[in-house]
Amino acid sequence: MKADKLIFERSSRGARAATIRRPDVPTYTLKCAVRQELDFPEIPEVTLVRHYTALSREAFGVDNGFYPLGSCTMKYNPKLDEEIAALSGFTDIHPLAPEKSVQGALEVIYSLGEALKEITGMDAVTLQPAAGAHGEYTGLSIINAYHKGRGDFARKKIIVPDSAHGTNPASAAMAGFEVINIPSDRDKGVDLDALRAAAGADTAALMLTNPTTLGLFEKNIEEIAEIVHSAGGLLYYDGANLNAVMGIVRPGDMGFDVVHLNLHKTFSTPHGGGGPGSGPVGCKAALEKYLPDPRVVRKDDGKYAFAYSEDSIGKVSSFYGNFLVYLKAYAYILTLGAEGIRRSAEGAVLNANYLKSNISDLYSTEEGRCCMHEFVASVEKLKEETGVTAMDIAKAMIDRGMHPPTMYFPAIVHEALMFEPTETEDKATLDEAIAVLREIYAEAKETPETLKKAPHSAPISRPDEILAARSQKLRWKKQ
Ligand SMILES: *Cc1c(COP(=O)(O)O)cnc(C)c1O
Repeated sequence: MKADKLIFERSSRGARAATIRRPDVPTYTLKCAVRQELDFPEIPEVTLVRHYTALSREAFGVDNGFYPLGSCTMKYNPKLDEEIAALSGFTDIHPLAPEKSVQGALEVIYSLGEALKEITGMDAVTLQPAAGAHGEYTGLSIINAYHKGRGDFARKKIIVPDSAHGTNPASAAMAGFEVINIPSDRDKGVDLDALRAAAGADTAALMLTNPTTLGLFEKNIEEIAEIVHSAGGLLYYDGANLNAVMGIVRPGDMGFDVVHLNLHKTFSTPHGGGGPGSGPVGCKAALEKYLPDPRVVRKDDGKYAFAYSEDSIGKVSSFYGNFLVYLKAYAYILTLGAEGIRRSAEGAVLNANYLKSNISDLYSTEEGRCCMHEFVASVEKLKEETGVTAMDIAKAMIDRGMHPPTMYFPAIVHEALMFEPTETEDKATLDEAIAVLREIYAEAKETPETLKKAPHSAPISRPDEILAARSQKLRWKKQ
């Protein structure tokens, strides 16, 4: 079957894929007429199975092949974690169940929070935010509450270096702050003079992505922390890239006050389709009372309970956030252990450097410097010589069974391709990727026109991206 129809278009009257069991409770016939045709699709079981199987084959996921999408950490998620998150003891509980009947679930929330405190070097944590950007918004709201709580109402600005993730300035603006951009220096780190000039009595915080979006570790971290703290500002660590450093360095030890993590990147939740995710926020003790309500605490008698704080910024999620994502993260952390977590980060950095050093004679990268878990290559020169762009290279990778890297990001590099191979790829896969990238480069030199038409094998070759964004067909209407 081809994936060319909607499930509604396959409907045929009277077809059934399931039989509803005879109810084991008394039935009741409504007295008034509320019957309405709902137009649900009616499908035989085999068509239903084929329909969704066909759809799933059109999508590319990390279980299909190499997926070096930079800044996204598309690593393999162990199936064990899925199994644990699917246990009925967890999936069947109700969010309004009383504390005493869900002690196990509360223990998971509490214990994961403890593990993340340990990993980040923070004193307190909330698991509520549903994504990284949501964590940023939550963290910034906490920072806002902290300054106001001290009677300091002048701190309205957030400093964001140009090597930050794009969500950082967006979240700062959403949280009501003014965004002050500062440039990078020659070493691609924060320009310290620019930071000194920007930091002052109106600085609420600096938001730093580390490793930066260039895949580089910010070297002057202690000096940066000193400048911001002595101006009375706080330090926010975008820890979505923690996969590069977990188990090795901790944001809390580097002087950061607030951090968010992406459980759906670093800690074993598949992502890319829009969720569910989780972006826990950790903070230092001085900010703890502002964390979202409720939090899970362990009482002296060993029982778990919800706790509320008068100064809390309030709830940022319905109920307690995405609980099943916590389970996967907790199972992942327990199976890896402290040693395994460190080795994951080491493997991620090693794999990125291996890939980088084997293609950097063709694709120009940050020279003479080790990258962290990802690196940015530029094909600006190749484009000048052949007309082949970063987009063309990315499309050609699709024909070779690989997901493209992130393209045209970060904006500070022209014709950028950002690779993040992750630690879950073995050497054979990396060697294959190296061979593919070298082959595409050779093709760009010899027959650039064929690359312009890639991909040849995908269900859709080159969609008109503007048309796709501007005139979306999101609803199906019965003819
Ligand atoms: C992915 C990412 C984010 C945003 O996370 P979402 O869950 O997509 O909102 C923020 N910062 C960095 C560095 C990231 O890589």
